[in-house]
Amino acid sequence: MEMLNIKINGMPFSVEKNTTILEACHQFGIKIPTLCYLKDINEIGACRMCLCEVKGARSLVAACVYPIDREGTEIFTNTPQIQKYRKTTLELILSNHDKKCLSCPRSNNCELQALCKEYGVDETKFEGEETKYDIDATTLHLVRNNNKCILCRRCSAACKNQYVGVIGANNRGFDTEIGCAFNQTLDAVSCVACGQCTAVCPTGALIERDDTAEVFAAIADETKTVIVHTAPSIRATLGECFDMPIGTNVTGKMVAALRRLGFDKVFDTNFAADLTIMEEGTEFLDRVKNGGTLPMITSCSPGWIKFCEHYYPELIPNLSTCKSPQQMQGAMIKSYYAEKMGIDPKDMVVVAVMPCVAKKFEIKRDDQGHDGIADNDYVISTRELAKMIKTAGIQFTELADEDFDPIMGIGTGAGTIFGTTGGVMEAALRTVADILTGEDLESIDYTEVRGMEDIKEATYNVAGMEVKVAVTSGLSNAAKLLDKVKSGEADYHFIEVMCCPGGCINGGGQPIVDGHTRNFVDVKGLRAAALYDDDKNLPYRKSHKNPEITAIYADYLKEPGSHKAHELLHTSYVKREKY
Ligand code: SF4
Ligand code: SF4
Ligand code: SF4
Repeated sequence: MEMLNIKINGMPFSVEKNTTILEACHQFGIKIPTLCYLKDINEIGACRMCLCEVKGARSLVAACVYPIDREGTEIFTNTPQIQKYRKTTLELILSNHDKKCLSCPRSNNCELQALCKEYGVDETKFEGEETKYDIDATTLHLVRNNNKCILCRRCSAACKNQYVGVIGANNRGFDTEIGCAFNQTLDAVSCVACGQCTAVCPTGALIERDDTAEVFAAIADETKTVIVHTAPSIRATLGECFDMPIGTNVTGKMVAALRRLGFDKVFDTNFAADLTIMEEGTEFLDRVKNGGTLPMITSCSPGWIKFCEHYYPELIPNLSTCKSPQQMQGAMIKSYYAEKMGIDPKDMVVVAVMPCVAKKFEIKRDDQGHDGIADNDYVISTRELAKMIKTAGIQFTELADEDFDPIMGIGTGAGTIFGTTGGVMEAALRTVADILTGEDLESIDYTEVRGMEDIKEATYNVAGMEVKVAVTSGLSNAAKLLDKVKSGEADYHFIEVMCCPGGCINGGGQPIVDGHTRNFVDVKGLRAAALYDDDKNLPYRKSHKNPEITAIYADYLKEPGSHKAHELLHTSYVKREKY
């Protein structure tokens, strides 16, 4: 490794050759502002906020793409000229921006607003005609508002990184705008609803569809029993919205806050993750024993399912028929729980708190629900839940821990790790191995499928049966894996696919982290570690050991894969066009 001696703002520093100025400054303890840069996926030097001075260079250089390749390079990051240049850049951006910060959903969490504050820019010197764009609210999962777009292209990079690439820059020069090909609305293209574009947008130009008003209205309706359930990963991320460190487990505070919001019951979607394992594990063993379609591919992630339907419909028979945990939980609340409590399911409102905006699409899919009753009525993201808690004046960080409500409030460690890539596979293996060996195995950490690698492969010998598995997350990685399956190059038995890179802990509805944090902090790793910690500390770590799961089979479903289970917990898929 060749090291170079350089100077940053007159101070000596040693850096590896070809490190960018942005990275070197970060190592040196200086944050350079950026609005477009996203490590590995959007390194285009377009926003010009990161301009720095290199002694001897003819003009200012973009720190995010400028490699330091000379001994003795002298860099300046904060001269009056640089400050003036950055201020002008912000003023130019504001000259064609709607500037309605007071009502903007990203206010206080907007990278443009933060930089304007830092540089003292509160109005623009450049008065000109402001372009007015129509707002695209045609989908169930997100809203596009180009009036707040700064053309940073992070969204199109994230969408391409998901293999989909349905949004990008249209036209040129002053007419450039972000949109779909031929200016179609988002509902007319094969967007998979992952929401990754909303997670990287630095402004309020791309946001999830906000369903919080409907949920507040349901809570206020005294004729309704309003039940909420929270996905595995929410406990590891919600705290970030209240300035808690990334990777803080806030399960108890979250439950307490949901009660204070007025929900009648607070259940844990981990319970349904365990139920999923019972059904999916049984389905897998049935396919193996009876010559069913293999590899079987997991079906918990609705963005992945939509992707498969649009882009790999020939692999639909490989998908597990199990509904996602969200849908299983809703189905059991409106059948088993409703019957047990003597509540008409029509008088119930079920709200799912999810890391994912594709879940908003999922609740409206065909072949979900039963007897004309939807499994879930509303889905809100982690961000929307945080907004509700703030609106209600709940002092989140001061709340004492509370427990989920019984009957569907116990989740195992296997359920918790559903929230990160590899977790569904590990949870399934814990149960399948016990079933095949007929033992209560003690060795249950399948570490080969953990971690953030693009594709993880492992072969396990379970009671004499060889089980070849693969795990991937992020749709570009999924596409690589699926191509291997299609070509016959891979002979897996079981595959886990999660739509978002890293799994639900990095879902499109999770708390937004600014570009700098995203680039330089292992956000996914910290959030995942919180889930593995939770797993280790829970009294039950295998889905089939969950006492509420055994009770529900004994009382109601009878056995995994039963007629009743199929009616309530399984679904079907459709081929969709690719546009
Ligand atoms: S996107 Fe940012 S700067 Fe623009 S209106 Fe919203 S908060 Fe203000
Ligand atoms: S939701 Fe996903 S697929 Fe749709 S535009 Fe955004 S990044 Fe692309
Ligand atoms: S929509 Fe957001 S992410 Fe996309 S170019 Fe505009 S500001 Fe950037």
